[in-house]
Amino acid sequence: MTDAALVNRIQLPRPDVTPDEAADILREHYGLTGALHELGSQQDRNYRVDAGDARYVIKICRAEYATVELEAQNAAIRHLRAKPNAPRVPGVVVSTDGKDIVTVRVRDQDYQVRVLDYLDGQSLTGRKHLPVTTVEALGMVCARLARDLADFNHPGLDRNLQWDLRRAGPVAVHLLSAIGNHEARDRIAKAMVSAVKRIQPLARGLRVQPVHHDVTGDNVVSRMDAHGRPIPDGVIDFGDIIQGWLVGDLAVTCASLLHHAGGDPFFILPAVKAYHAIYPLNEAELKALWPLIVARAVILAASGEHQLSIDPDNDYVRGNLAYEREIFDVATNAQADLMDAAILRAVGHDLPPIDTADWAPLLPEIGPETIAAVDLSVTSPHLAAGNWLKPDMDWRLLAKSALESGVATTRYGEYRLSRAEPLSLAPPQSLALHNDVCLAAGTAVSAPFAGTIQWLGQHLVLVGDGISLHLDGVDCSLEDDSDVAKGEQFGIVAGEPHTVGGMRIQLCRAQSLVPPLFCPAHHAEAWMALCPAPSMLLTPAAEAAPIESAELLARRQAHFAAPQKHYYDRPPQMERGWREHMVDVEGRSYLDMVNNVTLIGHGHPRLSAAVEHQWSRLNTNSRFHYAAVAEFSERLAALAPEGLDSVFLVNSGSEANDLAIRLAWAHSRARNMLCLLEGYHGWSVASDAVSTSIADNPQALTTRPGWVHPAISPNTYRGRFRGPDSAESYIDATMPVLEAIDAGGEGLAGFICESVYGNAGGIPLPHGYLERLYREVRARGGLCIADEVQVGYGRLGHHFWGFEQQGVVPDIITVAKGMGNGHPLGAVITRREIAESLSGQGYFFSSAGGSPVSCVVGLSVLDILKDEALQQNAREVGDRLKSGLAAMMERFPIIGAVHGMGLYLGLEFIRDHHSLEPATEETAAICDRLLSLGVIMQPTGDHLNVLKIKPPLCLAPESADFFLKALEKVLEEGW
Ligand code: PMP
Repeated sequence: MTDAALVNRIQLPRPDVTPDEAADILREHYGLTGALHELGSQQDRNYRVDAGDARYVIKICRAEYATVELEAQNAAIRHLRAKPNAPRVPGVVVSTDGKDIVTVRVRDQDYQVRVLDYLDGQSLTGRKHLPVTTVEALGMVCARLARDLADFNHPGLDRNLQWDLRRAGPVAVHLLSAIGNHEARDRIAKAMVSAVKRIQPLARGLRVQPVHHDVTGDNVVSRMDAHGRPIPDGVIDFGDIIQGWLVGDLAVTCASLLHHAGGDPFFILPAVKAYHAIYPLNEAELKALWPLIVARAVILAASGEHQLSIDPDNDYVRGNLAYEREIFDVATNAQADLMDAAILRAVGHDLPPIDTADWAPLLPEIGPETIAAVDLSVTSPHLAAGNWLKPDMDWRLLAKSALESGVATTRYGEYRLSRAEPLSLAPPQSLALHNDVCLAAGTAVSAPFAGTIQWLGQHLVLVGDGISLHLDGVDCSLEDDSDVAKGEQFGIVAGEPHTVGGMRIQLCRAQSLVPPLFCPAHHAEAWMALCPAPSMLLTPAAEAAPIESAELLARRQAHFAAPQKHYYDRPPQMERGWREHMVDVEGRSYLDMVNNVTLIGHGHPRLSAAVEHQWSRLNTNSRFHYAAVAEFSERLAALAPEGLDSVFLVNSGSEANDLAIRLAWAHSRARNMLCLLEGYHGWSVASDAVSTSIADNPQALTTRPGWVHPAISPNTYRGRFRGPDSAESYIDATMPVLEAIDAGGEGLAGFICESVYGNAGGIPLPHGYLERLYREVRARGGLCIADEVQVGYGRLGHHFWGFEQQGVVPDIITVAKGMGNGHPLGAVITRREIAESLSGQGYFFSSAGGSPVSCVVGLSVLDILKDEALQQNAREVGDRLKSGLAAMMERFPIIGAVHGMGLYLGLEFIRDHHSLEPATEETAAICDRLLSLGVIMQPTGDHLNVLKIKPPLCLAPESADFFLKALEKVLEEGW
């Protein structure tokens, strides 16, 4: 085809065939009837046909298009269907007279018609967000398809198609003429010129083979994985199949991903890596990939504008324009050298090494051993109590170190804590790609290699062969373009004599780039390859050791016994906490919305000072007489209702509940315990026995010992009876359990439950429920245990204890978790006579329970709770959060309910408002996406479909708002 024919073809409008006319064709030529739904297309007219159980697609294209090309599409489909491991593709449906392609005439126009099976599965169309796993899977589908098409052959593949990236230059030139906006046209033209310049020298190394050339989110269908993520495994629409550049095919897929990239071109890398693992690309192809992506973006943007000018009513084209412009912007804003390095590194290729063996010293007067390197990492001992949030903290620490040692440097390759940005949806630019050095002004600065001076304002660059040295803070009198010999002194450290100066050093291999000082973790590999460490010019200590989180996880898995799980598939390594924030080793700050243990917040300086003081003075056991145990027991008794004046101190919630059950046994001399379904009370033998949550133990319902009697779960949202006034019904439904215990004749020892249904998702018990049930239990001689491990201690905001909400007073309160802010600390608070009934069974002693350190922790937490008005904060910020969540419910049907109060909330996700089908996989995927947006959140409830929202009680209002913003983004854009 000549260029003129190609141009003509670009200008053809879509076939004008109505659904009724298409239905006639289907009936007449295929014997099919059914409802028709239009499917988008740029150049064809496609309808989905729902014919009973079967679904098809009718594809109508203009007669001008070469039939041999349509035959090629059908042949390719058949070729792939014969391959055992090819992606799924639709079957070709033949007409009643046995034809693959039928020619028809509609209102004086000739068309060619094909019918294919409709391939089941979700397309990715309309999903703004794609998880990494989906991106990887798209790369895999593209690779598998290309691999399986490699031995396909058909005369219809040699076609002139505007999308053929081998022709990108001339096609762009033609399309540009339709763009009226000069600025846009120039930008598009410029982008194409620089892409073509990079592609041309590589072209000979690019393999040519049959390629689908349109493996994009619109043209794949997916299945869902167990985490609710779409995994593309089928491909449709072979309309662009050509004999073309193999890597061009991947470029098309990658360009389509840029629409989902949130502006970050690195978003494509998992697809590239996954593709390469299946169908490896050669070096030339890897280097051509990014410019080909840019070329594709140019053609897409230009063609969208062009198509609209000839077919202004095509909504599909109009809708795609915004999408195409976004792809264009991301592609053209990226630095090509950086993307080349990123692609090579992603598939494990190293850039050629730089020979530094014969470099001369940069600072000949300074011995490397005299240079001190300051630790500014997330684990730095110099950083505490949020001091890193002061804007000049790193400089102060550097200057302090220089004062002590003479010369001090920051560390290249270090993730700096000071760069962590709390409440940020995107990861921070936290990795240092440079060194800042504090040293005496006037110190000589010499050239490590021969080069030419280049000034960029105050910024000095020594441009050498394949490497540039970027410097700030150097006095140099040489002009632009001056040559400097290796070892020649060309400047001194700036500043008044006898003062300390600051010099910034950076190396970069790409001459056209002024590299950034910092980059985000996921850009680190590429930037570190482009900007090698300047430590060889200073001291080996000027480079931070690499982070090895994955290796650390493997070590954990090797020896930390397997039943102890960790959150997330790829967990961030958390090494710092501050208030309601946690920071991982890469300086990513996360809002901790799940950590109910950390009641007063992370890293509280008052608590750590109190602990340090007590540890260094004395820690022993409660058989000794010391002040803290007396004071703490007194304080706890004062917090409990009148009459509950006896306190046992233990180390955990499990121990507290175990002991509470033993107290019930001892006091009642019976053994049977009543508990609730969907509950969790601990891991130790007795507390586990009364735990029924199948999310915590899938065998829970079939393995309870004989003395445990679970009662119906009073879940007012999805239980057998619904709403806050369902107490009577639930009690009535529990009576048979009590009556069975009565009938057994062995009596009832007690009843244990959470006062707010925490484990089920923060669901309040129905009004009056505990009052009636406690009455029934007590009438049988049993004791009532309130498990306040999660919900007590001010978390509910409106109440200090959960049972206050039900207007009851238990016989035994168990408490743990937040009371120690993470330190192992638990308590049982009960009436004197109940406590004393244990005496008949020997002494009670817990070696660390009630130790001086534990008591000091407990006292400090109580003091801080009071002095910082944290219960009040839980009420105010909790109310704000709850109303924000409730407002979202109207916009997002996946939200079924907002449970709880204060800072103990549950957001329940469902698939259907009638059946309340739990959205379990979606909840897992939502939690994963929230992590990537800087929020820690986990599912709870028997169906794992409730977000457990239980942050530290110091949660700031802006943190609550950030959580709402992140959640809204996920629900809007997908997960
Ligand atoms: N009771 C409840 C309600 C709990 O949520 C938990 C812990 N999740 C426990 C008891 C057990 O506490 P611990 O982990 O401190 O043993």
